[in-house]
Order: sequence, then C-alpha cells, then structure tokens
Amino acid sequence: MSKNKSSESVKVVVRCRPLNRKEEAAGPSGRVVEMDLRLGQVLLRNPRAPPSEPLKTFTFDAVYDAGSKQRDLYDETVRPLIDSVLAGFNGTIFAYGQTGTGKTYTMQGAWLDPEKRGVIPNAFDHIFTHISRSQSDKQYLVRASYLEIYREDIRDLLDPNHGNARALDLRESPETGVYVRDLASCVCKSVKEIEEVMNVGNQARAVGATDMNEHSSRSHALFLITVECSQPGPDGRKHIRVGRLNLVDLAGSERQAKTGVRGERLKEAAKINLSLSALGNVISALADGRSGHVPYRDSKLTRLLQDSLGGNARTVMVATLGPAPQHYDETLTTLRYANRAKNIQNQPRVNEDPKDALLREFQMEIARLRAQLDHRKGRSKHRKEEVEGEGWEREDREEDTEGEEEVEKEAREYVKQEEQRLEREKEAIREDHSLLADEKQRLLGEKERMMGDLRKEQEATEQLTARYKAMESKLLVGGKNITDHTNEQQKMLEMKRQEISEQTRNEREMQQQMLVQDEETLELRETFTSLQQEVEAKTKKLKKLYAKLQCIKAEIHDVNDEHVRSRQELEQTQNELTRELKFKYLIIENFIPPEEKNKIMNRLTFDAEEDQWKFQPLVPAESKVSQMKKRPTSAVGYKRPISQYARVAIAMGPHSRYRAENIMFLELDMTPPTTASLDRSSDMETDQSHSLDSSPTKDSAGRVRKSRSWCQAPKSITSSSSNASLASCHVSTATTAQ
Ligand code: ADP
Ligand code: MG
Repeated sequence: MSKNKSSESVKVVVRCRPLNRKEEAAGPSGRVVEMDLRLGQVLLRNPRAPPSEPLKTFTFDAVYDAGSKQRDLYDETVRPLIDSVLAGFNGTIFAYGQTGTGKTYTMQGAWLDPEKRGVIPNAFDHIFTHISRSQSDKQYLVRASYLEIYREDIRDLLDPNHGNARALDLRESPETGVYVRDLASCVCKSVKEIEEVMNVGNQARAVGATDMNEHSSRSHALFLITVECSQPGPDGRKHIRVGRLNLVDLAGSERQAKTGVRGERLKEAAKINLSLSALGNVISALADGRSGHVPYRDSKLTRLLQDSLGGNARTVMVATLGPAPQHYDETLTTLRYANRAKNIQNQPRVNEDPKDALLREFQMEIARLRAQLDHRKGRSKHRKEEVEGEGWEREDREEDTEGEEEVEKEAREYVKQEEQRLEREKEAIREDHSLLADEKQRLLGEKERMMGDLRKEQEATEQLTARYKAMESKLLVGGKNITDHTNEQQKMLEMKRQEISEQTRNEREMQQQMLVQDEETLELRETFTSLQQEVEAKTKKLKKLYAKLQCIKAEIHDVNDEHVRSRQELEQTQNELTRELKFKYLIIENFIPPEEKNKIMNRLTFDAEEDQWKFQPLVPAESKVSQMKKRPTSAVGYKRPISQYARVAIAMGPHSRYRAENIMFLELDMTPPTTASLDRSSDMETDQSHSLDSSPTKDSAGRVRKSRSWCQAPKSITSSSSNASLASCHVSTATTAQ
C-alpha cells in the first residue's frame, strides 16, 4: 500500500455499541452488525433484504464489538499513537459516526469509573506517566487547548467569555501548518491540571448545549495537546522535539432533515453539513489518489485536519456504529466512509527543533533570570567581602553544588547581618558624644537610607527568585516533577498488557494478509485428477464468484441510490437558496438606486481566507495621508483665493439687486396668528380664511418668491425679491466687465 518509504495509511477501527434499552424494546429483529474480531471484519445485514442476500463485509485495522472494553481500544490502537506523539510526531484521533453511537463515550467515557475512562483521560495518564518515567536529562513542556467548531465558527472553549467571544480565525504558516490565531493554551504540569482544563471546556460546551438544542451533536470538539521535549543530543546541544495531538469528537454524521427549513435554519443545516460533507470530499479525494486537488479549504474542520489527512501526522479514525436495524442506512454510510479513509496516505515525520517551540523560549527566559540572580548574588557577595574582608574561600568552593534553598537562606542571612551591623553603627553614632547634633543626624539618615536600599534590593531579589521558580516549575523534568505511584508489579502488568495487545495486533494483520493470499493462490494450488473433480471445483469457484458479483452489483445499486438521494438533497438546498437569492434580488432591484448599488458593488471584495465579502475602505490606506490634505495656505503677502461670485459680490457692495440671495439682509417674518380665538365671530373667521386663500393669487405670475412667507404683502416681494438668478448675475457682471 505504501507509496514511499515514510508514508503510512490512516488507521481505521470500527466500534459497535451495545443495543440500548429503547432499541431492545423496539423489536425482535435484533442486531444487524456482526463482527469478526480475529479478522477485523464487520458483517452487515440488510434488514429489508431477503435472508438469502449475502452479508456486506468490510475489513478494518481492528474492530471492537459491544463487549469491548475502553482499555482494549486504548492499548491496541491509541497507545502506539500517543507514544509517537511523545517522540515528536503529530497525531490525530477522531471519532466519526451517527449521533448516539458512542463517539463521546469512546473519546471521553465516564471519567470516574476506571473501567469506562475513554481515550482522552487515558491519554492524559499515559503522557504524564511517560514523563515521570523518562530520563532526567529530558525536559518537557505540556500545553493544552480546547476549541469547538459550531456553524463554521471556531470558538475557544477555554475563553471565560466563550458565549460572547468573537469567532477565531484560521491562519497558515510554513512552520506549523494551519493554526488558530489567538487560541488560549494552558501549560499543564500534571494529570490533575490537564483534567481541570478539560472540565472548564466541557462546562462551556454544556452551557452552549442548553442555549441551543442538540448543540453538542452539531458541533465538532477538538482538544489539542502539545508536548515539547528537550534532550541534549550527541553534539552537546539541547534538541527540541514537538509532538501535537488532536483529539477530535465530531458532530453526528446523520443527515439533517432538510424538508421545510428556510432562512436561518437552512443556513444552519447547510453549515453543519458543510464540514462533514467537506470532510467526506477530502477523504474521497485523498483515497482516490487520482484527483490532484484536495478541497481542504471548503470548511474549517478540513483545514484544521489538513495535516492529519494526507499530511504530516499519524491518524486513527474510530468509526462508531449502532447495531439496531432502524439505523441500517446510516451504519452502511459510516462503514463506506471508514472504508474509504483506509486508503489515505500520510507522511509523518518528527518535528525537530521548530522555530516556534515554546520550550526554547522558556529555557532562554529561565537562563536570563538565572543570570540576573547570579549577578545579584555576586554583587552582594562582593559587598560582603568588602565588609568582612575574608572567609569566602569556603563558600566559593561550594558555589556550584549549593541548591536554590541554600542560596536564598544565605541571602536572607546576609541581609540580617547587614541590618544588625547598620543598627550597631547607628547605636555607635548615637552614643558618640564627640559628634555635633547635626552631624549625628546626617550620619543616622545615611545609615537609614542604606538600610532602605538593602531592603529594596532584597525585595527585588525575592521577586526575581519567585519568577524564576514559577517559570522553572512549568518545565517538567523527566523522572522528577511527577512522582509515579505505581509499583514494580503494576509496571510489569502494564508492560505485559501492552505486549499482549501488540501480539493481537500482529496476529490480526497476519490473518488478514493470509486471507488475501489464500484467494490469490487458490487457483495455483489446484490440480485435478479427473474431469469430474475439475467440474466440481470450477462450479464451486463459479458459485463463489457469482456471489461476489451479486455483492458488487448490490453495492453498485446502493451507491447509486445514495447518489440519487444526496443529489436530491443538494437540489433541494439549491432551490431554497435560489429562492432566497431571488428575494434579495427583488429588494435590491426595486429599492436600491442603481448608482448606489454600483458604488457598493465596486467596493466589495471577497476574502477567501475568511470566506466573507468585505468592503474596501473608501480611501486606500497608503494614500490616506496625501488625500486628506489641508486647505492650501496662500503665498505670503497674497490674499487667500476666493471665488468669482464672492469677488463680484464684494465689488458690487450691498446692492439691493442681490439682497434676495442673502438671507442675512432680510428682515424676520412676523407671521400673524392663523388661529382664531374662540370668542371671535364666525364672519371674521371666514374673512381671514379668505385672505389666506387669496394671498398667493395676488402674487404676480412667474415670480419666484425667496425667503418670503406667504403672508407678506405682494408689494414688498416685488421690491426685494426677484428672479434674478446667479446665472443672470454672471451675465450682468460679464457685460460690465466688457
Ligand atoms: P455520541 O457522542 O456518538 O452522540 P454517546 O457517546 O453520547 O454518543 O453515546 C450515547 C449513549 O450510548 C451513552 O449513554 C453511552 O453511555 C452509550 N454507549 C455508547 N457506546 C457505548 C459502549 N461501547 N458501551 C456502553 N455504552 C455505550
Ligand atoms: Mg457526542
């Protein structure tokens, strides 16, 4: 299978959960899934087909039936992967299957029951036990992050603001591949601490689940552990290896019922399916091997798993099944999916000395703090020498071997001695009668200041030591920080168990190989003594091949059916989306002016990175400074340039002809009251209303009334207001100029 030396295929195992109470009660038809543990085969019976139809058979790296234990799956399948992560490889385990088939059970399990602890808690134990048992020249740094992808948004589950936080972005770097920007990561020093991290994230997920019905089966959860290990190499330098482990609990793979969904719900359904169907497409493209393009960029999930599928990682896929007949279709889809994933080739390699290793930064910071501390120690020693003049040879000799505690004790001792000395000197000054009072005061003040300095220095040293210790405690030293409580007998037991799992694995691989070889060599081994015997053998073979043919025909039929089904679903989604689009078009075409629309269209650009349309800024960022110029200042001695109109207006002075254009010259309109008081006689009212109606008619036709209220006398309008527009003004000025 392997294409080149370093490539290896994705390991696929299948696990079937027991029938639950509801399914047991539902019918006597029993289970449709059977498993051959020895050969690693799953046999699936179609409950709708006649009993004569042969069972569908799929072969995997391992299969786990209803009676399987969490421990079996861990030891056989997961342990080798975690071991390679500890050796500096990238590793991924993902659980795939219909909702309720045991993905979360497999990944997490029941934490409190040692028998039912899933992959994640077992991996925690494994990692920290490994560190505690490794050699003391190794230094480790373990970090954990937890995120979920819900409706194509990446959310940090360790962010205390989880519910309201902005969705995180994906970024790509040549060094680490695809990563999530601004994702929180916690340095963990023990199993307890990493479990705490997991709990915090699970609680954030649970809160989300209550907000949104069925949230957990619609979101993908990723727990990321980074293990950095530094060890001195043969060249004497410390080399760092970084292993990254992704533990993925995917959303339920079943089809969301799409009928009748519209608007927001439609978008949600489309987005939930998007990640899983994109995952399916990626797996198909990789398994096929012929198509050059792998659509990783189609969803957030596939981008995050880019390394795990066809990249630099070792990957295990756990496909989970339910045994009940009513879920036959889903079970078959899951098995097909898993079967395809077996063909994916990865190229795992050890990540050695990457530039972004946090461990390196930690080591450098620790070395810097250490140097600062040493410097301080040296200074205080020097001063002590000055004071005492001798007696340091002994300490100098022991300097290299003395521990941190001793250094601190010594520093404290020294400060105490110094304080006592200064106190003694102060006492001596006070009792010295030969000194003047002023002089005494000055000397005492000086001593006081010296004591203050000493205390400050001591405080700074203590702070530095605390920081140094905090940094150092984050690094785990092999066989030192974590105490391993298991005794020799338990260790032996563990080792034996691992050996047995390894043997089982090897045995199964051999069995599978033998099965394949058997079929191939059957023909070669057969020699026939009589024609009759030959006919018999060939009939048997024919029957076998015929059965195989039937199987394949059924398979083709199934696959066709599935294609038709998924095409119908896609068409339905497309129809819904087209309808939505038409609705939006209607609004745009009828209610947005075309020039506004064009302006908006010209400014829009598509950001492929974020999968969003975005507005370009109105002013390009770089030309902002040049465009936002200040009004030009006039040359020295000249007036600021003004418009032609303003110049004419100044030349003409406050001419009555232009008064209408300048409201500043007009008097205020004193509008007479239009409401009549109640005690007025009705004829007065009619009189007023008459004058109201008639006043505009008195205005001469064709006259433009500017800044004039309707009630002003026509006389005044004629005098002050005219239809002399700016154009006519220009004409007149032009003629005067001539
Ligand atoms: P999923 O995460 O796939 O939606 P769960 O892990 O929540 O499904 O499992 C659904 C139920 O089935 C849980 O109550 C779980 O305890 C039970 N279950 C799943 N797998 C097993 C198994 N292998 N053995 C026993 N119980 C199981
Ligand atoms: Mg689940």
